[in-house]
Amino acid sequence: MQVQEQAVRNLIGGVWKDSSAGEIFYDISPADTTKSLGAIQQSDNADIREAFESASRSFAEWADTPPIERGKLLFKAAEMLQGDLERLSRLLTLEEGKTLQESRGEVQRAADIFRFYGGQAARLKGDTFPASASRSLFYSVREPLGVVSVLTPWNFPIAIPSWKIAPALVCGNTVVFKPASKTPLIAYGLVRILHGAGFPAGVLNFVTGSGEKVGDEMVTNEHVDAISFTGSYDAGARIYKLRGDNPKKMIRIQLEMGGKNPTVVDEHADLAKAVQLVTQSAFGLTGQACTATSRVIVHEKVATEFRAKLVERAARLNVGDGLEPGVEMGPAASESELKKDLKFIEIGKNEGAKLVLGGNRPEGENLERGYFINPTIFSDVGSDMEIAQKEIFGPVLSMLTVKNLDEAIEVANETEYGLTSAVVTEKLASALEFAQRSKVGVVKVNRTTTGLEFQMPFGGVKHSSTDSFKELGEEAVEFYTKKKAVYLSY
Ligand code: NAP
Repeated sequence: MQVQEQAVRNLIGGVWKDSSAGEIFYDISPADTTKSLGAIQQSDNADIREAFESASRSFAEWADTPPIERGKLLFKAAEMLQGDLERLSRLLTLEEGKTLQESRGEVQRAADIFRFYGGQAARLKGDTFPASASRSLFYSVREPLGVVSVLTPWNFPIAIPSWKIAPALVCGNTVVFKPASKTPLIAYGLVRILHGAGFPAGVLNFVTGSGEKVGDEMVTNEHVDAISFTGSYDAGARIYKLRGDNPKKMIRIQLEMGGKNPTVVDEHADLAKAVQLVTQSAFGLTGQACTATSRVIVHEKVATEFRAKLVERAARLNVGDGLEPGVEMGPAASESELKKDLKFIEIGKNEGAKLVLGGNRPEGENLERGYFINPTIFSDVGSDMEIAQKEIFGPVLSMLTVKNLDEAIEVANETEYGLTSAVVTEKLASALEFAQRSKVGVVKVNRTTTGLEFQMPFGGVKHSSTDSFKELGEEAVEFYTKKKAVYLSY
C-alpha cells in the first residue's frame, strides 16, 4: 500500500493553523519503521493558550444552543464516521499496529458513541421536587461545566477521544483536545470529520504536541474547567498533583489509568472456553489494552491441562502486519513499548518465573522492519513478582496457580490496580462470589476482560482511576454537567 505522508495542523477557533513553534516530529508505522505516515507539529504552550482562549470565547453561545440542535451535529458526525469506516480503519492499523479487524471494531465503536450521545441530547434531564410551600416549584437543571481539557492515550486513539468529546459536546461544553503523540493522525481524522459535521468555530479545538512539553499547560491553563485524562498512572498522578498545587479554580478531574487485570480459571471452568477467552484477552490488540488480561489465575486441579492447551493455542497465533489478511496479532505500537515488553521478559526470567512460550521476536520476511514480538507466557509466577504486579502493556501473560476460589480472589485483588477482571466457570456460586469480591470497576463472567459496550458505565478503582465519575453510558453525563437547584414561588 502506498502511504501518503500528511501534514497535520492544529484546529483553533475553526481555522487550521500552523504551530507558532514551527517544530515537527514524524509519525512512524510500527509494522514498518521505514514508513513515515506524517509530519506532526510539535506545538508549544502559546498554541495551547490560544486553543483555550478560543474554547472559552465559544462556550457561552454553544452552551446556549438547544441540546437537540447539538445532538443533530453528533448524529451527523456518526454518519460521517460510518461512511469513512474503511479508510479510517486502515489508517488506524497503519499508525497503531492493531489488526484491520480490530481497527474496524474500534472505528465502528466511535461512530456508535457519537450516535449514542446524539440521542442523549434528548435526555439531559433534571428533576422536580416536592415543595415545602404552596404556589412553588422546586426543580434542578443540568448545565455544562465550561471548557474541558481532553488528554488521551495511543492504544484506542479514536474510541477514547470519542467517548470523551461526544458527551462533552452534547452537554454544551467546549473542548481542547491533545491526542497521544504516537497516534496523532487518526485523531486528526476524527477532528476533521467533526469539523466537517459543522460544529461551530472554537467548540472543538485540536493541538498536537508532546505531553512532556505542553501537558502542564493543558492542566493548569486558567480557562480549564474540567480535565478528562486517560493514560498511565504516573502521568495521571502528576496531573492530579499539579492541578491540586495550582487551585486557581477547583475543577473536576477524571483520570482513567492502568490495569493489571486477572482472569480466574475456576476448577468448574469449560477449559476450551477458558483457552479461547484468555488467548483473546491477553494477546488480542497485542496485549495493549488497559483491560487486557495480564494475569491468569488457575485452579491447581486444572492448571496443567489448561497451560498445555493455552500454550498450544497461543503458539499458533499469526503475528504480522495488521493489514495482511489472516494476521491475528500486530506489532508493539512503538519502539519504547517493544523495549518495555522485552525488559519485563528479562525481569520475569530473573525473578525465577518459567518461560513457557515466546519471550523473543519473530523472524520472517519484513518482520525485522517492525516492532514485532511473540506472544509470551510465564508460568510458576508468584503474586509478589514484578511481572505479576507492574503493568507491562504488551503480549506478556503471567500464569499463577491457586488452591481454591478464595485464594484466587485474594491473588486477583493483590495489585494496586483495579480496572477489569473475569472468571471462567460453569458454577453460578463461583461466578457470583467472584463478582461480589473482585475489587475492580468492571467484572466479567465467561467473557474477555477486554471489550466494553458503549451503553455500560466504565471506570476503575484503586490506582486505575480517580473513581469519582464513570465514563461511557448515560453516566458520562454526570461528569460533563453540573446540576443547579431552583426554588421558585409565585
Ligand atoms: P501516557 O503516557 O500517560 O499518555 C496519555 C496522554 O497524556 C498522552 O496524550 C500523553 O501525551 C499525555 N501526557 C503524558 N504526560 C503528560 C503530562 N505530564 N501532562 C499531561 N499530559 C501528559 O499513556 P499512554 O502510554 O499514551 O497510554 C498507555 C496507558 O494508558 C496505560 O497505562 C493504559 O493502561 C492506560 N489506559 C487506560 C485506559 C482506561 O480507560 N483506564 C484506557 C486506555 C489506556 P504524549 O503522547 O505526547 O506523551
